[in-house]
Amino acid sequence: MSASVPVAAGAAEQSQDHQHQLVPSDISLRVKSLESLLVEKGLVDPAALDALVDTYENKVGPRNGAKIVARAWTDPAYKKRLLADAPAAIAELGFLSTQGEHTLAVENTPKVHNMVVCTLCSCYPWPILGLPPVWYKSSAYRARAVIDPRGVLKEFGLELPDNVELRVWDSTAELRYLVLPERPAGTDHMDEETLAGLVTRNSMVGVEKVKASLPKEAR
Ligand code: FE
Repeated sequence: MSASVPVAAGAAEQSQDHQHQLVPSDISLRVKSLESLLVEKGLVDPAALDALVDTYENKVGPRNGAKIVARAWTDPAYKKRLLADAPAAIAELGFLSTQGEHTLAVENTPKVHNMVVCTLCSCYPWPILGLPPVWYKSSAYRARAVIDPRGVLKEFGLELPDNVELRVWDSTAELRYLVLPERPAGTDHMDEETLAGLVTRNSMVGVEKVKASLPKEAR
């Protein structure tokens, strides 16, 4: 008769699931309610909240990283500084460094390809790349990026020749990585701003290369 216990428990769970579907499905509605409550109780200052939202919507994101990459491509002295002391070089361009951890810039070349993962959770350089994409946080990527990195890259459409050394960097709470992708051929005539427009988020995580034409979403 013990088998009836899990079945009964399953039925209870199902009915709970059903009830969950009756509460507002719109997550933003729930967030809004929570926010109103926190503000009402004086636990949160609405101006501080607005500043935080503005930061993550407008000031933090992969476009910051793209500007850093484009500067490094066009200014050899800046590139040297970036590879030697990334936090200082990032600050030079006026970007936030609110996380307090160290950042290391690693350079892709025709001989060496770098890719970044956080095997433990989802550590990521927020101030320069924004919030991590869902795939970066997935357990599949976190495990397979270490076990079969070339296979993972292939799934991202990047087939790495055998003679290219592949380095996989495991991010931690203390140390995050920015991949400096290779500047694509045929971009000698482009200025820094145009170059920045070519740089994708994924290229700065090291799962794809930068192409000489603008990515679709930027057109
Ligand atoms: Fe992590």
